[in-house]
Amino acid sequence: MTRLALTDLDKQACDLLIDKAKKAKFDVSIDQIGNIFIRRQGKNSNLNPVLMGSHADSQPKGGRFDGVYGVLAGLEVMLSLNDNNVQTERSIDLAIWTNEEGTRFAPAMMGSAVFAKKMKLENALSCQDNNGVTVKEELERIGYAGSDDFSQYNPYASLELHIEQGPILEKHNNVIGIVTGSLGQKWYEIEFIGEASHAGTTPMNMRRDAGFGMARAMLKLHDLGMQECDMGGRITIGEVKLDPGSRNVIPGRAWFTLEIRHPNKQALEKMDKKIYDLMHHIGKTNKLDVLINKILSISPLNFDQKCISVVREVTRNLGYSHEDMISGAGHDSCYLNYVAPASMIFIPCVNGLSHNELEDITFEWSEAGAQVLAHSIVKLASHGFEI
Ligand SMILES: [Zn+2]
Repeated sequence: MTRLALTDLDKQACDLLIDKAKKAKFDVSIDQIGNIFIRRQGKNSNLNPVLMGSHADSQPKGGRFDGVYGVLAGLEVMLSLNDNNVQTERSIDLAIWTNEEGTRFAPAMMGSAVFAKKMKLENALSCQDNNGVTVKEELERIGYAGSDDFSQYNPYASLELHIEQGPILEKHNNVIGIVTGSLGQKWYEIEFIGEASHAGTTPMNMRRDAGFGMARAMLKLHDLGMQECDMGGRITIGEVKLDPGSRNVIPGRAWFTLEIRHPNKQALEKMDKKIYDLMHHIGKTNKLDVLINKILSISPLNFDQKCISVVREVTRNLGYSHEDMISGAGHDSCYLNYVAPASMIFIPCVNGLSHNELEDITFEWSEAGAQVLAHSIVKLASHGFEI
């Protein structure tokens, strides 16, 4: 699946969803960043609506379920309510958030960030892809530059159903993940600076080899990640560069990206401090200069306790095996959490694979997630937290 945000294929998918929504007599609104809201009217329009939803865009050669599973399950919930003539007190809204993946236009989770007022609309609209095409131009071209105003919109609660994108539920043989929060993360670019020189003439003990400095750093960072493994910590080095990059030259510069994640704020800060200490120590003992550039810092996030309890109660009542979990990935709900009581529901994916063409789910998991979503949404839309 390659359905990058605001491409013709993205348009086709959204057109199809809107077509299905209109056939079912749901109301459709589109805001200025192209977020789509499909509404099934409740009895009482004075009450704040209950919101669900996810995204329809994908990574390049991504899976068929990341995001769109939550969208289609949400639509199915609304259609099933029609089929069964269920009337809810509150209206139920299904949102399809623009550009969640952030592959074509960075940053990720753009539509929900603008919705939650965590990113300015103008800044989002002026983001460009690699060909210099802006979000605004593409929204206009595919007909999704909406004008509906959601600035006064106050969801009563927000739930997002999504695949786990990791291996834990499947390993534990659980069908439902009750998502209580999301990992905090920090991103760095780190560079060791030594001296490039001849690989044949420079004795080992007279070198300032930035490459081996980086290798030592990597092993220490891996150890640090393993120390925090049981507490949910993660460390990833995803990109490296050696300069000048010749087999006969001692690397004068070694650059790498580092990202760390942790569910606990204090532990995340502790890891951060340790990274600075470790890198400076390695620089010192290897006669290398060190540059550390921190480019992102997000605190761990807790989802709403009341939303979590509704999902937990519904899951128990339906008899599905379940566990509490923390999302390792970022999701639209991380932004929605700022403007509404929010939480998420996870189902397993085969072998924990996601952002991969092999991404897969079973019919049983798919149904379980949709049932939990349906019952939770109906509960929230019928009475609310207090019942
Ligand atoms: Zn997703």
